[in-house]
Amino acid sequence: MNIILFGPPGAGKGTQAKFLVKILDNFQVSTGDMLRDEIKKDTDIGKKIISYMNEGKFVEDEIVNSLMKKVVFDSSRKGKLIFDGYPRTIEQAKNLDLLLTESNQQIDFIFFLNVNKETIIKRIEKRKVEEKRGDDDLDTILKRYDTYLKTTSPVLDYYSSKQNFYKLNGNLEIDQINKQIRDFLKL
Ligand code: AMP
Repeated sequence: MNIILFGPPGAGKGTQAKFLVKILDNFQVSTGDMLRDEIKKDTDIGKKIISYMNEGKFVEDEIVNSLMKKVVFDSSRKGKLIFDGYPRTIEQAKNLDLLLTESNQQIDFIFFLNVNKETIIKRIEKRKVEEKRGDDDLDTILKRYDTYLKTTSPVLDYYSSKQNFYKLNGNLEIDQINKQIRDFLKL
């Protein structure tokens, strides 16, 4: 089963992805984690993207799409993908459709974690203490939220009319959001 978790930064996509990985024996596909890994390993991509990421800006579609190609075409992960943080632009959504068609796959569920700005700020400030991420200070959070509104929220229109699109209340506690997802998945 392939699933997209969609929503603003701090919506809880990563947390829910980790639950689903356990329940379904699937793989989490976090472009944020993949990009942070490139920075940690100081690769050519890592050197190119570090300033973008620390400033809360999006990494170029071309880079993210090329990382994604490897994942979608990896036969050991076929039909077991939990997308967390991808797609984030219309270009990426179109690219994902193409990659899935070419690899004979589909998206089974799209979950939109709908969260308000106050909850996002609270959650990211907590995460800042726990994970010490370079892009979790208040200014950067607000920038990332603005980028989400401008660039990512149009992706909602791309998905929201699809039959397998489900809108969830992402302001609830982690367990309650998880229950909503399991109810839709009948797990
Ligand atoms: P995340 O861990 O998903 O919150 O992502 C952290 C940062 O990584 C974002 O603020 C972007 O700078 C970058 N990033 C992650 N996913 C994408 C994506 N799909 N497209 C562009 N940039 C991304």
